[in-house]
Amino acid sequence: MIIAIDGPSGAGKSTVAKAVAKELGFSCLDTGAMYRAIAWRALQNGVALDDNEALGQVARSYDISFGHVEGDPVPRRVFIGDDEVTDAIRTAEIDRAVSPVSAAPAVREALLDQQRRIGNGGNYVVEGRDIGTVVFPDAAVKVFLTASDEERAHRRVRQNVDRGIGSIDYDEVLADLRRRDEADSSRATAPLRAADDAVQIDSTSHYIEEVIEQICELARSSS
Ligand code: C5P
Repeated sequence: MIIAIDGPSGAGKSTVAKAVAKELGFSCLDTGAMYRAIAWRALQNGVALDDNEALGQVARSYDISFGHVEGDPVPRRVFIGDDEVTDAIRTAEIDRAVSPVSAAPAVREALLDQQRRIGNGGNYVVEGRDIGTVVFPDAAVKVFLTASDEERAHRRVRQNVDRGIGSIDYDEVLADLRRRDEADSSRATAPLRAADDAVQIDSTSHYIEEVIEQICELARSSS
């Protein structure tokens, strides 16, 4: 079974996806981390971020994989080829680079294959922007998770403080979230939008635990 969770940056997708996966005994796939890993590799290789073909070549040449920290069932470690990029993909530089990389059709095509291959291997909670619309349009459960811009920025700052990576300047984080929302929603290929049959959940005024329970309930009642 696939549970698709889409929505804008900072809506709580990662936290919710990982908790739902843990509760249901599913695996989870963070597709944003895959686009971030390609952006990191492209910068390392000196690839121009507006060169669709060269970016596609990067995406086709490297496998992205996930790993566990010992004792944690949730795969939080990210690798591209042999390089671990778990922390390196969470910097402000990658926040900026990932929008043009994820807008490149050749990158999306290459990652679509990888994402379907991974997800079709078992029960998965898959989070991203186009999971319910493009990657797994037949997902058993589709959720579109949102929250107000201000709430998302506050959450992202708290997350960056906890991780010790990325900007902790609220105004800078808010501006970056809005810029990425605009880029993700307006691109030609697989833009950010809710699938017609997605359940829309606004997490602004709900405890995250309530959102997690609601999604688990949707999954239980659809199986
Ligand atoms: O989810 P996260 O914020 O880490 O995603 C980083 C970026 O990757 C997004 O801003 C978006 O441009 C891109 N992305 C995408 N499609 C997905 C997941 C992420 O375009 N399915």
